[in-house]
Amino acid sequence: MSSHEVRNQPPPLEGHDVYGTDVALVEAVEREGAGWAAPQLHRLGCLAGSAEAITWGFEANASPPVLRTHDRFGHRIDRVDHHPSYHRLMTVAVGYGLHAAPWSAPRAGGHVARAAGFAVWSQVDAGHGCPISMTYSVVPALGAAPALLAEWQPLLASTTYDPSFGPVRAKHGALAGMAMTEKQGGSDLRANMTVAVRVGSDDTYSLTGHKWFCSAPMSDLFLVLAQAPGGLTCFVVPRWRPDGEPNAIALQRLKDKLGNRSNASSEIELDGALGWMLGEEGRGVPTIIEMVTHTRLDCVIGSASGMRQAVAQATHHAAHRHAFGARLADQPLMGAVLADLAVESEAATLTMARLAGAYDRAAGDEHERALRRLATAVAKYWICKRQPVVVAEALECLGGNGYVEESILPRLFRESPLNGIWEGSGNVLCLDVLRTLARQPESAAAFLAELERGRGGDRRLDRAIDALRAVLAPGIAPDQARRVVESMALALQGSLVVRFAPAEVADVFCATRLGGEGGRALGTLPPRAPSARIVARATPVPH
Ligand SMILES: Cc1cc2nc3c(=O)[nH]c(=O)nc-3n(C[C@H](O)[C@H](O)[C@H](O)COP(=O)(O)OP(=O)(O)OC[C@H]3O[C@@H](n4cnc5c(N)ncnc54)[C@H](O)[C@@H]3O)c2cc1C
Repeated sequence: MSSHEVRNQPPPLEGHDVYGTDVALVEAVEREGAGWAAPQLHRLGCLAGSAEAITWGFEANASPPVLRTHDRFGHRIDRVDHHPSYHRLMTVAVGYGLHAAPWSAPRAGGHVARAAGFAVWSQVDAGHGCPISMTYSVVPALGAAPALLAEWQPLLASTTYDPSFGPVRAKHGALAGMAMTEKQGGSDLRANMTVAVRVGSDDTYSLTGHKWFCSAPMSDLFLVLAQAPGGLTCFVVPRWRPDGEPNAIALQRLKDKLGNRSNASSEIELDGALGWMLGEEGRGVPTIIEMVTHTRLDCVIGSASGMRQAVAQATHHAAHRHAFGARLADQPLMGAVLADLAVESEAATLTMARLAGAYDRAAGDEHERALRRLATAVAKYWICKRQPVVVAEALECLGGNGYVEESILPRLFRESPLNGIWEGSGNVLCLDVLRTLARQPESAAAFLAELERGRGGDRRLDRAIDALRAVLAPGIAPDQARRVVESMALALQGSLVVRFAPAEVADVFCATRLGGEGGRALGTLPPRAPSARIVARATPVPH
């Protein structure tokens, strides 16, 4: 149109290395022992920042999966069709081993490298991360039945994404899901009504019941909880039976979700589905917890990733957009908002990398094992809670453009409450922390020892550690759980930023999050905070 010239619109944020421009992440990967993964992370980062991959993310969400219950002759097929771009996203994720590398090619720093890759690639689209995360997490749980692990691990570890729908013996790779939640209860799994009846002498059972949420139903196997005679038990339920027939799993419908639209979440009916017992009868929750622990780590990574993408978009926009005679980034109040966002995002990145490092070192290190137990729940609670707040504020930095789908912020916003719900929602996690404090005092000791590593770096952190030391003991009342867990999370992040972030980031974090100098909204920094330096560190610069 000749009516006007297009001015003062920033260029799209593309053509950059999503990994390499995330300075806090690059430093954390090196520090946590995964520097060897840098070349592949840069490659993945460049792909994630490419216009092509960004388009895949948009397309996979604009054309959500479609359930085909029957073929044209009326036979049940129970298939979900995805947009080709979903398959492209999955091909990259599986090709980079984001679903399995720490198990298939174990090495020091493997979980950290994988966490960084997951954080980078999820910024293109979070939805397809669901089956990637569940597949990553199912392997440690399968360890409870070595024969099942031996049977499935080669396929689950394959870096070939094979979306073909059919018997597993014809496949080049497999994916896993889980089905715990039922209509009458998701947190309280003891309320599960699905019934399991033994049908063979080899731990095979027939499962009958419903599952109210079952994501990625095209997966090749599921961990399913059901009531066996000995109590709630975990089962491996393949989508196809060994005789090549489909297992008795009917997909009833797909959920019409707020966000996470590229990923299918279904309601399923098990009508005598064949399953193999995993772990002991009656020990379903402890068995599946091995899986849930890892998906909780992925909620932390996913939320840190969603925050990073939002902050990258906000800082990029403000670096190019002018208002009232100056770049937005140079307007002092916008500088304070962006700096506060950047501090929150960096604290989340440091936490997720430290936590992934604990997963790497847990096997041979008592401190790391005990820390992991408590820090996973603490970090999941807090970082998932911060995600919607951060994304909403970042969205506002783009003004009206941020409210428009093409900016990606609306998708990030719809996605933002999800990690807080699944794999243990907020209250459930906080109560879990209280239980751990009561039953495993060594976890509290490890947690405090981790905080102490930052002592002396900032007086406000020192005071926060002292205050927590007085509180962390058995007997905390349930209605105080959120308050305590929030303090734990902030102290942990404080300890990490004091040790590992630049001085200005640590100073703002401690002042606003531990020292009482921040307000309730983001952008409420103490006077003369060095916002420009903090924002510059967080701003992605396309090459
Ligand atoms: C998009 C999506 C995909 C999902 N995919 C899967 C999947 O693949 N497999 C699967 O098994 N599940 C899946 N879920 C289900 C999810 O794990 C559950 O929704 C979640 O565990 C919560 O269970 P619920 O919905 O039954 O809520 P409820 O258990 O009824 O909880 C409702 C609220 O009450 C709180 N609450 C519960 N107990 C207490 C207590 N004692 N004290 C205080 N507060 C409490 C909870 O924190 C929550 O806020 C998915 C959910 C979503 C949204």
